[in-house]
Amino acid sequence: MNGLHDMYNRSFKTLRVSLLSRCNLSCVYCTMGEDEVKDNNAHQHPASATQLLRQIVQLHTLLQLETIRLTGGEPLLYHELIPLVEGLKQMKIPRIRLTTNGFLLERLATPLAAAGLQAVNVSLDAIDEDRFFLMTKRTQADKVLRGIDAAMAAGMKVKINAVIMKGINEDQVLPLLHFAFERNITIRFLEVMAMGHLHSNAAHYLFSQEELLEVISKEYAIERMPRKEGSTANYWKTTEGNHFGIIANESEPFCHDCNRLRLDSTGHIYGCLSSNQPIALSETDDTNTLMSKLQQAMDQKQRVKFTGSELSMLHIGG
Ligand code: SAM
Repeated sequence: MNGLHDMYNRSFKTLRVSLLSRCNLSCVYCTMGEDEVKDNNAHQHPASATQLLRQIVQLHTLLQLETIRLTGGEPLLYHELIPLVEGLKQMKIPRIRLTTNGFLLERLATPLAAAGLQAVNVSLDAIDEDRFFLMTKRTQADKVLRGIDAAMAAGMKVKINAVIMKGINEDQVLPLLHFAFERNITIRFLEVMAMGHLHSNAAHYLFSQEELLEVISKEYAIERMPRKEGSTANYWKTTEGNHFGIIANESEPFCHDCNRLRLDSTGHIYGCLSSNQPIALSETDDTNTLMSKLQQAMDQKQRVKFTGSELSMLHIGG
């Protein structure tokens, strides 16, 4: 049963699960660059793997999910990650994926792949150590690079996500592209989003799709590819056959066919990253109650324009 569609024929086929709102980096777009990451959910314990699996089964039964993406905070800090992935595999949801900063990936890639994780998106905003520090307030970019190699060696599909911010890491576009192309990895550049502390001043840091293409075109001949329905990214191909994408929330918002539902680490769902009043799920929800909560989440979806939110992605999951 999946009667949930809105006037744009949007449904929920991808569930993003934020496992915890804690992170081991302090990226400038999530935090204000402070040493301690602010965590509004810190007073609440993240759901256990058993609780999460129970909630996901309920949602999957109603929605016939096609993709689960585990995120956070930093999902590799979640203690029950391996049993959680094993439980998801048993549900036979076709695609099980994870988004990580890659810091702990070198050690976890092999057990995660064995548990059933098929793909990881690694967030990497800089190759140069000084730029990496500016973006994350942490050193050791090389740890992330080794994590990427370990994930590939474990047989997982790897993509890189890089947020490019004007005046901070725009000089990293080509080094990141070279790194990805050398390994035959698809990289996606993200326009900065008006989330959290950037809600009112993201424009100040925006390095737009047009500016990204200008930099890349100086070195590569590129051709735009057709966009797949529901895709967050626009893709281009170089004449050498390499691919890269741009997630252009500002320049080309993709709300019109967004199929994502979010579940946070304390059992709330959200239908939209921008319009995100938490809707609390309860283990005692019957089918009708859950359907009506999903309808509320569907009603949160914005029409065509991403407007952002004062809540950081740390809390509802990036
Ligand atoms: N810790 C994991 C990681 O670093 O990938 C998962 C959570 S992180 C919030 C997920 C994604 O959100 C990252 O790719 C990050 O770059 C992106 N993100 C967070 N805030 C953002 C913002 N204001 N604009 C653009 N991307 C943002």
